[in-house]
Amino acid sequence: MKRVDCQHCTHFRAAPYEARKDGCYLQKNMPSKQKDMYLDEQQIAGDHRAINIRGDCPDFEARAVDVPWWRRLWSLGA
Ligand code: SF4
Repeated sequence: MKRVDCQHCTHFRAAPYEARKDGCYLQKNMPSKQKDMYLDEQQIAGDHRAINIRGDCPDFEARAVDVPWWRRLWSLGA
């Protein structure tokens, strides 16, 4: 079975740029979640280390690969 890493999952957010605290932001894994963006500080992220302790989390979704700006321009024909 392929091992998965939370750092490469779309549900993982890392502090300080993506979230206040590192963790799993998949709704079903969060002890406390808020619908509104302005209540974001009240959210409690899921403990990604405990959830994915064996590296086989079934909810893993790979992050989209960032395409460099020059390649986006290249694809537009600029
Ligand atoms: S625990 Fe699972 S769903 Fe959450 S960030 Fe890790 S791999 Fe993704």
